Amino acid sequence: TAALLLTAGTLAGCANGSETPGGDNGDTAGATIGLLLPDSVTARYESADRPYFEAKVKDLCPDCKVLYANADGDAAKQQQQAESMITQGAKVLVLDPFDGEAAAAIVASAKAQSIPVISYDRLINSADLSYYISFDNEKVGELQATALIQKLKDDGVQPGDGGILMVNGSPTDNNASQFKAGAHKVIDASGYKVLAEFDTPGWDPPKAQDWVTGQITQFGDQIKAVYAANDGTGGAAIAALKAAGVNPLPPVTGQDAELAGIQRILAGDQFMTVYKALKPEAERAAQLAVDLVNGKTDKGDTTVKTKGGADIQSFLLVPVAVTVDNIESTVVADGFYKASDICTAD
Ligand code: BGC
Repeated sequence: TAALLLTAGTLAGCANGSETPGGDNGDTAGATIGLLLPDSVTARYESADRPYFEAKVKDLCPDCKVLYANADGDAAKQQQQAESMITQGAKVLVLDPFDGEAAAAIVASAKAQSIPVISYDRLINSADLSYYISFDNEKVGELQATALIQKLKDDGVQPGDGGILMVNGSPTDNNASQFKAGAHKVIDASGYKVLAEFDTPGWDPPKAQDWVTGQITQFGDQIKAVYAANDGTGGAAIAALKAAGVNPLPPVTGQDAELAGIQRILAGDQFMTVYKALKPEAERAAQLAVDLVNGKTDKGDTTVKTKGGADIQSFLLVPVAVTVDNIESTVVADGFYKASDICTAD
């Protein structure tokens, strides 16, 4: 006990390191792990990633402590949050960067203090990463666009009838460019044309909504479909279309299987979303972080190259397209939601 440490003649006990008050004696028991997430305009971070991560760390290392911070869409703020975690003694950082280029500076300062960094969900452009864990993000864009093009064909829309608006993600997010590349691959080969496209700063739904509102003024009923990169921007596109009185709504895509997105699909307002199993993603990150704390290194399932050309040990999970036809066999069967979460009383 602490009292014993202060008793004369117990110097040997003090030195055994088991009860150093408030001390950082290099023991891995009770290690601190930092989790840094990028924005607070997207539901997944607080509703899924953070709780799944914290629960898994607690399970694997009951004495470990998780420090959590959300950058609120601000790269400078994220840098300060990381520095603060380092000051507070974090042994590992799990970092989902708001800006994948700017965050290389965080990795550099962590490295200078021998703190490993796991690039979580979004790739950081740094050769010094310990791991990258994410999904096959180009595949996400392919799933969205494949479903959208099929829907246009099923509905008998001809390429000459109009085209597609593309509401992409944040220009500072490496995933966003992969979603866009995957979607373009499919759309550009389909014969349907893109009327206009927009990279949404910070994935911010109000910015997406403003842009779509302007496009409705310009293109009117030529808009036959909206490719939206996630459920936040998809919901924004739907709000813009409804506010302009567009009826029936064109098919709109999304991603994340957010509760609001699933509910819009059931209501017939949103055409599809992409389910990414966030529990295994967060739990794998927690496992890797605890292993690093314990000085263990694992090999990735694959390697991914940063823009700078470094090979990073990586784990890439598989995304799944969700329409009204398979909500039950995907997000419900997987325990991501209970039917009672989705179906509200009214
Ligand atoms: C994530 C998406 C998320 C988006 C906005 C992307 O990097 O992969 O799941 O919707 O960021 O936060």
